[in-house]
Amino acid sequence: MRITRGAVVLLLVTLSTAVPAAGQGLERRLVVVVPEADDPRVEHARAAIAFWNRTLADLDLDVRMREVALIAGPPGMRAIETFARFVSQRGGRIPKGRDGPQPPPELTALGGDVVVLLSRQPLLPFAWPLIGSPDHLVAIRTARPGRPRDDTVLRNVIAHELGHTLGLRHNRGGASLMCGPCSSLAARESPGGWLPLTERDRVLLRTLHGKVETHGQPGGAGVEAVPD
Ligand SMILES: [Zn+2]
Repeated sequence: MRITRGAVVLLLVTLSTAVPAAGQGLERRLVVVVPEADDPRVEHARAAIAFWNRTLADLDLDVRMREVALIAGPPGMRAIETFARFVSQRGGRIPKGRDGPQPPPELTALGGDVVVLLSRQPLLPFAWPLIGSPDHLVAIRTARPGRPRDDTVLRNVIAHELGHTLGLRHNRGGASLMCGPCSSLAARESPGGWLPLTERDRVLLRTLHGKVETHGQPGGAGVEAVPD
């Protein structure tokens, strides 16, 4: 490989911004797992990815999300669903990382940086940090077709969980994308269909994913992603 000056600069930036979350590069590779390929939530996930890429571009940050694979009903789906149910039911009471529940090989075999499971279960959605690849499992509940504007709520739920994979934490009170706890009413009424980021969110994103300053100050201190 011929290394150009640009490539060297890019490598240095990648190493510097990798401090907050090990393995995070400029491109976050998303593997989307669905029960069936025609699941309508796939379009919600793509809308949430596009939302984040617009937002990150507006913030002049180089990190982007890219869907690298859509996998429908893989052989290991049951094991991944079982792990997702376990985390969803116990997420607030179990340790993360090496002391926490270890993902099944069916999940780690998928690779990427983030696995987005569009679950068969009506589970509590979450973003769970893992060691290695993938570094997060995001699990999204089934649709609730009877509820008004559930599509809008689901898009915001997916964007919220992807926000955790970028290092964002919950905001208490108010109607913001990273609210926690949240009222689904807020998402239904949000202008443009997306709940807003707060100034605190924007500052944290710039701290975690900002470009290296000329005086050599790297991205910032590590912040652990918080599951829902
Ligand atoms: Zn959350």
